[in-house]
Amino acid sequence: MEQDDWKERYKLLSEEVDKLQALLEEQPLQRLVFQMSVVLDGQSEGLDRSLKNLCEQIKTDKVAKPETISLVEKQLRGLDLEQQQHRNQLLQGLKKWIYQLRLNLTTDLSNQRLSSVEEALAPFSGRLAEISSVINDLVALQAHILTDDFNGGRQHGILEELGHEDEELLEKIASELLSLMSGLHIPQGEMSLARELVSRIERGLSLSVLPEIIQDLVSLVGRISSYNSEDFEDYLLNLTGQLAEVQAYVEASQQDERLDEEAELLSNGIRYDVQAIQQAMQESNDLQQLKSNVSSQLMNIVKSVDLFKQKEESREQRLHERYLQLQSRLEQMEVQTQQMKVHVEAERHKALTDSLTTLPNRAGYDQQITFEFERWKRYGQTFSIAVADLDLFKRINDSYGHQAGDKVLRLVAAILTRQCRSTDFVSRYGGEEFVILMPGTSEEQAVSAVEKIRHAVECSPFNFHGQPVQITLSLGVAEVQSDDSIEDLFGRADKALYEAKRLGRNRIELG
Ligand code: GH3
Ligand code: MG
Ligand code: MG
Repeated sequence: MEQDDWKERYKLLSEEVDKLQALLEEQPLQRLVFQMSVVLDGQSEGLDRSLKNLCEQIKTDKVAKPETISLVEKQLRGLDLEQQQHRNQLLQGLKKWIYQLRLNLTTDLSNQRLSSVEEALAPFSGRLAEISSVINDLVALQAHILTDDFNGGRQHGILEELGHEDEELLEKIASELLSLMSGLHIPQGEMSLARELVSRIERGLSLSVLPEIIQDLVSLVGRISSYNSEDFEDYLLNLTGQLAEVQAYVEASQQDERLDEEAELLSNGIRYDVQAIQQAMQESNDLQQLKSNVSSQLMNIVKSVDLFKQKEESREQRLHERYLQLQSRLEQMEVQTQQMKVHVEAERHKALTDSLTTLPNRAGYDQQITFEFERWKRYGQTFSIAVADLDLFKRINDSYGHQAGDKVLRLVAAILTRQCRSTDFVSRYGGEEFVILMPGTSEEQAVSAVEKIRHAVECSPFNFHGQPVQITLSLGVAEVQSDDSIEDLFGRADKALYEAKRLGRNRIELG
């Protein structure tokens, strides 16, 4: 049915067009009028009607009635006025639009474009081409504002104007931004903002939203880094300083002494606490939590160090007291040692001295002969030895008593000491025997020296209970010879003494 209607209408239209075509070909005036009526169709109802009449009159009568022509003319003038009015209204509308756009456009580029559109309107012709171009320009400019409004009024028109949204590039940017965010250490306080930012990126980027996302990300990173750079950095700096102090203290306390039990405990404690700090640093992503963890660990360290210090101080105090005690003890000991030295010296002297005559005894002699012998060996300075023995002393004891004998011994000792040089060494070898060592003395010199002694003893005016008592002594002399031993030397002198006894006593023999 519809198809039949369509066919019918098509048939009628074709016939009408054919007729018109034939008419147009016949009559140029008719054709012009007809074309005008087509062009002006719809501009005004009256004009439409008048033009229809005009067309029919020309078609029917080949000529138009003057009143019809004048009516068309009148209506055409009216149409021109109406169109001028419309143009004015349109111009006003466009100007208002431009004004509003100017209020909202923010980029220089957009404003420049708007100005050039406005300039283009100055001689406004109202032609459709011009209107369409102006409207297109204004719509394009308005698009920026609409996009800007959507983005919260931020300025990124230039990005829009670049206009080449590359999907792949945007996806790549999105994935880079997400990986950047996943690498951030986001504090608790910024977490919800960061999540929101991630979901905005995941929703998909466009050039229009990219600037704001980047700006938000930058400010988030800024805030995070401000956490890090100011507060956190200061904190870590402080922490590092405190740890360095602790370290220095521990090192100083370990410098002099071996690590004792207390210091080892402290050192282990600090090591444990520092490990805990490092662990807290690694695990925590919240500054406040990290701070409180680290602070409590630091408190532990400080407590340990304080305790250690206290212990060290009390130990130092004890050590100091002990030191003072030891010092006074040492002073006492020094006095005692000094006393002991004197005592030992006295004892040594006593040990080397004969108590009856106060001459060096046999031990004294042994010591001195060793010394002389060594000196001779080293420097080659000769020395001689004289062994003296009181003659028939037994008889003195027997005749006058033992005390008289002692007295004689003391007297003889005194004579020997007096007669000898100061460099000579006189000793009581034992009983009524004396030995004299004469450094730097040959046997001849020694003989003449002991001769004086022998003579002095012989001449001593000894008496007992008013009766003179004759005392003599015999001497054997020997000078040290090469390859001698002490015993060899003494043996020669002793043998010479024996010879002197044998030859009658009160005399000197050389060994
Ligand atoms: P010689 O001429 O041969 O030496 O005869 P001597 O009597 O001196 O010799 P002997 O060895 O027979 O006697 C030594 C005596 O000297 C014996 C002892 O009573 C006496 N004598 C030894 N030491 C001491 C002493 O310390 N005091 C006294 N009073 N006599 C002593
Ligand atoms: Mg004797
Ligand atoms: Mg004798």
